[in-house]
Amino acid sequence: MILVFCELKDGKVRKPSAEALSEARRLADAGGLQVGALFVGASCQGAADAAQYGADAIVTVEGPSLSAYSSDGYAQSIADAVKAKGASVLLAAATSVGKDVAPRVAARLGAGYSADVTGLSLAGGKLRSLRPVYAGKAFATYEFHSPIQVATTRPNVFDVTVSPKAGVPESLPAPAGGFLAVVKEIVAKGGGKVDISEANIIVAGGRGMKDGANFQLLEALAEALGGVVGASRAAVDAGWNIPHSMQVGQTGKVVSPTLYIACGISGAIQHVAGMSGSKVIVAINKDPEAPIFKLATYGIVGDLFEVVPELTKAARALAQ
Ligand SMILES: Cc1cc2nc3c(=O)[nH]c(=O)nc-3n(C[C@H](O)[C@H](O)[C@H](O)COP(=O)(O)OP(=O)(O)OC[C@H]3O[C@@H](n4cnc5c(N)ncnc54)[C@H](O)[C@@H]3O)c2cc1C
Repeated sequence: MILVFCELKDGKVRKPSAEALSEARRLADAGGLQVGALFVGASCQGAADAAQYGADAIVTVEGPSLSAYSSDGYAQSIADAVKAKGASVLLAAATSVGKDVAPRVAARLGAGYSADVTGLSLAGGKLRSLRPVYAGKAFATYEFHSPIQVATTRPNVFDVTVSPKAGVPESLPAPAGGFLAVVKEIVAKGGGKVDISEANIIVAGGRGMKDGANFQLLEALAEALGGVVGASRAAVDAGWNIPHSMQVGQTGKVVSPTLYIACGISGAIQHVAGMSGSKVIVAINKDPEAPIFKLATYGIVGDLFEVVPELTKAARALAQ
């Protein structure tokens, strides 16, 4: 069985988990395996949603000890579920929770682990993963030799496919508690905006924005396109009140949207490491020699303070 640790939001499977589940279905169909969707928490209401993404079984680990996120509590629950189901592969989306818990599960199971993968296949019953290395300059293929194999899938890379299966529910016991660490409080950021690592459209600004207040231009374009705003490290570090949660790159977030618009960003390797997986890249820069143009699908040589408002106007006109 391929077990997929899934996260819920508003009673539905989160998109990155639906992507991991859809990929698991594709692998399982090729390898003659079953897919199990695994949910952990105080309540797993909405877990049945996983059936539409190809889950043969829906496994829940529910209990009061899991009411708050706990790295070791979740890792124990997931590792126990992998053993109980005899799963050979565990997948999770490379979200904040997935990145935290998956390596802990792998360590508990003595399993090989591949993080933030952009491609998966099964060869002779063993998982093979593809992942970017050297800040996205190259791709490496990893072969697993351990009996159990664990990987996290990069959000926005794998397609979501609706292929309904039985989704037979099964409940497993939750651990008693007494975990080493428990999250006491989560303070949600205002605005309810999508996290950039899950966004489909990102309008990002760099040092060329000159000031934090000018990010309003990017907010307007992002809103017209239905996207969110990101930033380079230079913008985050400039004291413009741009939070680190918006930073794209090696020491920020890795994003892979359908559309990435880089405004006043030169294209340093550390920035590119976080956004080279974007499907379409539009670069707006007044320097025709800026390295970002080597990567861009479309390049606009010009002053962003003229180009961005024009793009916003055009996007608004299209939306009407
Ligand atoms: C260990 C390490 C980790 C790092 N991690 C990250 C990371 O995670 N993310 C990241 O982004 N960086 C990271 N950096 C920093 C990185 O090396 C670059 O310094 C940074 O990405 C530069 O940001 P920038 O492109 O916004 O600024 P700059 O390189 O200064 O580029 C600004 C660009 O704006 C253009 N411009 C200026 N005015 C206008 C205008 N009016 N219209 C159009 N274009 C204009 C300029 O031509 C220029 O190309 C890291 C560095 C190190 C050493």
